[in-house]
Amino acid sequence: MQHIDPPTFDARDVYTTCIANARPNSRKRLESFTDAVADAASAYEAAAQGQALHTVTGLAATPGTRRDRKALEGVYTDRLAKDRAPGRHIYEALKGTTDQEGRRRDNRCPLCGEGLVTTLDHHLPKNTYPLLSVVPVNLIPACRDCNTGKRATVPVNAGDQTLHPYFDDFSHHPWLRARLRRPRGNEQPSMKFFVSPHPDWSDTLTERLQKHLKVFDLDYRYSLLVSSHIASTNHDLTMMPTNSVAPWLEHKAEGWRYRGNPNTMGYALFKALAADKWYVNGGWRGSSPETNLD
Ligand SMILES: [Zn+2]
Repeated sequence: MQHIDPPTFDARDVYTTCIANARPNSRKRLESFTDAVADAASAYEAAAQGQALHTVTGLAATPGTRRDRKALEGVYTDRLAKDRAPGRHIYEALKGTTDQEGRRRDNRCPLCGEGLVTTLDHHLPKNTYPLLSVVPVNLIPACRDCNTGKRATVPVNAGDQTLHPYFDDFSHHPWLRARLRRPRGNEQPSMKFFVSPHPDWSDTLTERLQKHLKVFDLDYRYSLLVSSHIASTNHDLTMMPTNSVAPWLEHKAEGWRYRGNPNTMGYALFKALAADKWYVNGGWRGSSPETNLD
């Protein structure tokens, strides 16, 4: 979960660019919504800054007809996202996977911190909010798992909002935590990921963080990823005196901060291993039966 700078594109400019080469009849219809799109973008931004995107439900009523709603949704699909679409350069810039010279950039998904960005996710879905179909601050670079897992969720109250990478930044506190589930018999050890909020944070914010984990299925997805990290760690530990194990795991955790942000899978994983007395005092020896250490 990583904060990223909001895009600097103006919503009206983006919309105008996208519809510029539409056929005359269709362009006329789309042009009639230009002001409504710009107004919706302003209302969205104000609400998002106040962590209140559940309050913009009024925007869902426009346009009123199915035909117009489909036309506005189509602006994203056919005029922004498609190859050679008039807005395709904006789509690529919003994905942020290349810099201005076309060089590859770090392209980690801000929603999960693990996947690679392959698409844009509508933070508020375009079929409910057609006016927000190409509003830049509603378009989040995302990996495929985050994009397809989320589907068309609409927040119904303040605590129901997933994190918004452009407007939310809670990286000053490690709220993503994990706990080692000790293996029974020949089981592999596994991790449970959960939210541990700062004591000053409101119940609403805690609910939002929990919602984020749930909607993107992060406990499950991370737990599938950690087994290889644990196996490799157990192998490294064979070289290490017991009193060095916890400090070394703490050190590993620090390496998993992402631009200072401790809310990453790896930071939570290694902090949890370092804090687990059973694991540190030799539990790791029998905890990776699938790894051949001979
Ligand atoms: Zn993701």
